[in-house]
Amino acid sequence: MIDFNRPPFVGKELDYIKEAIDYGKLCGDGEFTKRCSAWMREKFQAKHVLLTTSCTHALEMAAYLCDLQPGDEVIMPSYTFVSTADAFVLRGAKIVFVDIHPETMNIDETKIEDAITEKTRVIAPVHYAGVSCAMDEIMAIAKKYNLKVVEDAAQGVNAYYKGKALGTIGDFGCYSFHETKNYSMGEGGALVFQKDEYQEPAEILREKGTDRSKFFRGQVDKYTWVNYGSSYLPSDMNAAYLWAELEMAEEIDKKRHAIYDYYDAALKPLAQAGYIEQPVVPDYAKHNAHMYFIKVKDLETRTALLKYLREKGVLSVFHYIPLHSAAAGKKFGRFSGEDVYTTRESERLMRLPMFYNLEMKDAAYVAQCILDYPAFNR
Ligand SMILES: *Cc1c(COP(=O)(O)O)cnc(C)c1O
Repeated sequence: MIDFNRPPFVGKELDYIKEAIDYGKLCGDGEFTKRCSAWMREKFQAKHVLLTTSCTHALEMAAYLCDLQPGDEVIMPSYTFVSTADAFVLRGAKIVFVDIHPETMNIDETKIEDAITEKTRVIAPVHYAGVSCAMDEIMAIAKKYNLKVVEDAAQGVNAYYKGKALGTIGDFGCYSFHETKNYSMGEGGALVFQKDEYQEPAEILREKGTDRSKFFRGQVDKYTWVNYGSSYLPSDMNAAYLWAELEMAEEIDKKRHAIYDYYDAALKPLAQAGYIEQPVVPDYAKHNAHMYFIKVKDLETRTALLKYLREKGVLSVFHYIPLHSAAAGKKFGRFSGEDVYTTRESERLMRLPMFYNLEMKDAAYVAQCILDYPAFNR
């Protein structure tokens, strides 16, 4: 069976985890946590990077730091993972869903302005598949209406918009290091921001509402409870695993692009024959080969093809069921304007196996199975 995903493994992970244990400090903000955050600050030109226990938690932190009041509204695509919405729902916000661009599956920035009301506080663009949203336009709208921008860059680590790393453009960026993402620590994430004013409240929030981070830096001589907080700091053992991946970031990126490019070239004839559609990457985006998806005619075709691939030993999977159609989506949100593409496109999309340790011969087998699919050869 060719898996859809396997967590990245580059070889040094166990050495680094052992090193973390030998340091004798397994809690957060240890040696590897520091190394990982410093690496990201430098590589992504990000002023502040706080490692977290997940991207969901980074989003929760961002939602908290946006200082939302119950009833405030947050604009996002409906085609996203539940966490994008959950983080804001936890703060009592109402979610306003906006339609997507069919080519990128990203929020359609031209439909955002119509969704704005006097209660709108935040826009939360999601960089689907590591392909950037139209950030200049989104930032301009945010500026015009005095809104905050929280980038869900869970899939966008080491991907860029006009040369800027995703996650560093809005007020907050949220990364995921879940095992399904390009760089992993099992479960984990990061909160990224540029403004110094957020550093102290973010650290306090992450450290159970205490000023323990200041204490560790020697800025105060004992730490106390200073505000509301939670526990969003990952263990240094997890950070040690992540460090192994970050050190090899270039190789991981190269390998993923090789798989992506292979699929893209191999399946081109099916696109030319009109059986499938392939992903489109706008000129302004440098993507990170987080995902390779194709779109087929409709839901029925997809169900049949996924079944066929499974019989051939290939695990290909569909993706999000639009949030506005889910029970919680109806309870906590509403769709602004017309759902022209969100539902229709989500039903046609399927993702092919894509992970660092996938062998090229297996990628070739996956592509060949699709090329040989009888319904595409009539
Ligand atoms: C993976 C993912 C998340 C959640 O990340 P976790 O680290 O598992 O919490 C959130 N948003 C998007 C778009 C994702 O792909």
